[in-house]
Amino acid sequence: MSNLTSVAYLVSSVLFILSLRGLSHPTTARRGNFYGIVGMAIAIITTVSNPGVLSYKEIAIAFVIGGLIGSVIAVRIQMTALPQLVAAFHSLVGLAAVFVAASAFYNPSAFNIGTVGNIPLGSLIEMAIGTAIGAVTFTGSIIAFGKLQGFVSGNPLVFKGQHLLNLILGLGIIALIAKFCIDQNPEYFWMIVAASFLIGVLLIVPIGGADMPVIVSMLNSYSGWAAAGIGFTLSNNLLIITGALVGSSGAILSYIMCKGMNRSFLNVLLGGFGGEQAASEGGAKDDRVAKQGNAADAAFMMKNSKTIIIVPGYGMAVAQAQHALREMGDLLKASGAEVRYAIHPVAGRMPGHMNVLLAEANVPYDEVLELDEINRDFSETDVAFVIGANDVTNPAAKTDKTSAIYGMPILDVENAGQVFFVKRGMASGYAGVQNELFFRDNTLMLFGDAKKVCEDIIKGLEN
Ligand code: NDP
Repeated sequence: MSNLTSVAYLVSSVLFILSLRGLSHPTTARRGNFYGIVGMAIAIITTVSNPGVLSYKEIAIAFVIGGLIGSVIAVRIQMTALPQLVAAFHSLVGLAAVFVAASAFYNPSAFNIGTVGNIPLGSLIEMAIGTAIGAVTFTGSIIAFGKLQGFVSGNPLVFKGQHLLNLILGLGIIALIAKFCIDQNPEYFWMIVAASFLIGVLLIVPIGGADMPVIVSMLNSYSGWAAAGIGFTLSNNLLIITGALVGSSGAILSYIMCKGMNRSFLNVLLGGFGGEQAASEGGAKDDRVAKQGNAADAAFMMKNSKTIIIVPGYGMAVAQAQHALREMGDLLKASGAEVRYAIHPVAGRMPGHMNVLLAEANVPYDEVLELDEINRDFSETDVAFVIGANDVTNPAAKTDKTSAIYGMPILDVENAGQVFFVKRGMASGYAGVQNELFFRDNTLMLFGDAKKVCEDIIKGLEN
């Protein structure tokens, strides 16, 4: 039986790796998801078929409750709320790591790791580190959830001596782990949990809205390492492999995003170290008046344009405007224009957010280009059509050292001959920074819900 279990776990692990590979490109993402589902099904069936299972009743109850909650959330969740959902789920992975470590510590014989007070050193170290990472993941993810959902202010919360406090707490946790491994005293176990809960909060509160994408992916990575820690405690190879896959892919994604946003990986890892100046401007009031156009103007100008770059952002996702947008793009192509889409690495509210929506609307992949591939072309483009994007076009990122988004590469839409901004009003973007492009001579604001504006432009193009 144990050989069969090992083979089944190996098959699951391979499927998870194939799943990650598939998810790395829109054309293979569906297949990647399928591999992931099959791998998880095999893993669950193998685990519950283990002869060591004492009672199926509790498992069945937990399965039904968890499955029901998961299904209801999955059906109801808005695409725009996925980042906070992911953060909420990560918090549960972290808490599970703490619970598993606690049960292994209080009942080691059930886990084949000795008896109370006589747990081998290796298991104690795994347990303590898994607990610490799990507890940091738990509270860190809750704060990230609160910030993304708007329960907690998205502004960075910084105070004097914050980094010193984090350093002392970090060293304190290492000392507690050492004491715990020597004495096996439950008090030390719970002190590790408490200190890690605290540092989880302290690491995330100084992170401002603009850096939240990296944090979501960083916490994803932490939850993977916490799961790998549980795997060691449970001597479960599949959990170790899966945890390491999630941990390393999350870390790689965070690194790529840090590079994309020109942020220091280490700063984000250490809780916004050096980010004090990045306080949000909160969308300061501006007395200047932006020029306003309407759908008919936009339809007329774009019909007479040769090159158009569409820049989608969070507002397109909110309005679910992707289908109307593709229809508009098709009509423009039919009238002879070259239409392409420019995707910023952190447009929307999760990595790949815009790619998923455009793929859902069947926008051809070869028309969708990354920032590096298309940014230079704006200067030779007749129209930049910015739909529900804001921060990712804001030149303050290049010019204003005090800005929360300073240093982030942006899409240089202002270099296009004409810029249209589709949004409902003059509100700032996620980072709370005023966008001075709204007041440029070559900008026309098209106020309204993104989907409605596209539909109106379509009518204008068809006339
Ligand atoms: P922004 O959040 O900067 O701007 C979106 C704009 O869309 C708003 O200014 C809003 O203006 C407008 N909008 C909202 N609803 C609608 C609607 N129904 N119709 C038309 N417009 C609408 O989005 P960007 O995509 O430019 O930038 C993403 C931001 O989110 C960055 O700061 C990034 O760091 C952050 N972020 C990204 C994550 C990721 O992984 N991609 C995760 C978490 C945060 P108005 O209200 O006036 O309509």
